[in-house]
Amino acid sequence: MVENSKFPIVHLINAPENPLKTIYLACRTCYSAEYPYKIWEKDVEPEKMLKLVGKVLASGHHSTIEHCQYIFTISGVTRACTHQLVRHRHMSFSQKSQRYVTEQGQFEYITPQTVKNNGLQEEYDRLMVKISGFYEKMVEQGVPAEDARFVLPNAATSSLVASLNLREMIHLANLRLCVNAQHEIRKLIKLMCELVVEKDPWLNEYLVPKCEKNGFCDEIRSCGRFPQQVR
Ligand SMILES: Cc1cc2nc3c(=O)[nH]c(=O)nc-3n(C[C@H](O)[C@H](O)[C@H](O)COP(=O)(O)OP(=O)(O)OC[C@H]3O[C@@H](n4cnc5c(N)ncnc54)[C@H](O)[C@@H]3O)c2cc1C
Repeated sequence: MVENSKFPIVHLINAPENPLKTIYLACRTCYSAEYPYKIWEKDVEPEKMLKLVGKVLASGHHSTIEHCQYIFTISGVTRACTHQLVRHRHMSFSQKSQRYVTEQGQFEYITPQTVKNNGLQEEYDRLMVKISGFYEKMVEQGVPAEDARFVLPNAATSSLVASLNLREMIHLANLRLCVNAQHEIRKLIKLMCELVVEKDPWLNEYLVPKCEKNGFCDEIRSCGRFPQQVR
């Protein structure tokens, strides 16, 4: 059995030093005759910056938040989860290759809580051990890792470096913090958001599920937190 209660493992390894001032600069540059570097040199009260940034974001002028870039390292997530994550086209990824990295011994995998709850953990573990054994047998007999990986399940874990700007981070939160998002990616995105908010608490109000942003729910299966508006 692979112990995975601490998964996913997420670290924010790079973040903008002063995202509020960066966004303020971007906003002010659009509406000021001053050179941007002169705006940057000024000390501005955080409240004043927050007010302008709030107004600009509410108006939909979202290119101003694309200057803030975040880099995460992510491990202990399933291939099922990473397959969903890589659908986000404004993110950049470098993912551990199943072609070039041959699994040594039992591959790492995740067991969903529902499997445990239904008393299927042992059977699940036996299946993983069997798959791992056949994978090893193939590799020993000369099958390249890129072909042996065909038997690896969605449950196998992966590692990535993922980077994105703040605009995409907010979009990711809006979509994937919704209770209708799959539980593993929701947990991952929640951890990513917490790391960003830990550094810059003012971003907490933006890194929310879409219902909190819109004031209504557009999902067919609503959790009931907000009034439903399904088109
Ligand atoms: C709850 C849930 C269930 C899902 N179920 C399925 C499923 O069953 N099957 C499936 O295939 N996918 C599914 N998805 C994935 C979903 O369809 C999207 O591919 C994924 O969420 C990425 O979202 P996005 O395209 O908005 O975001 P991103 O790719 O991150 O793009 C951000 C925004 O940029 C703009 N944009 C990006 N690329 C283009 C483009 N080419 N043209 C125009 N505008 C663009 C759009 O405004 C987009 O919202 C699901 C997602 C969620 C959250």
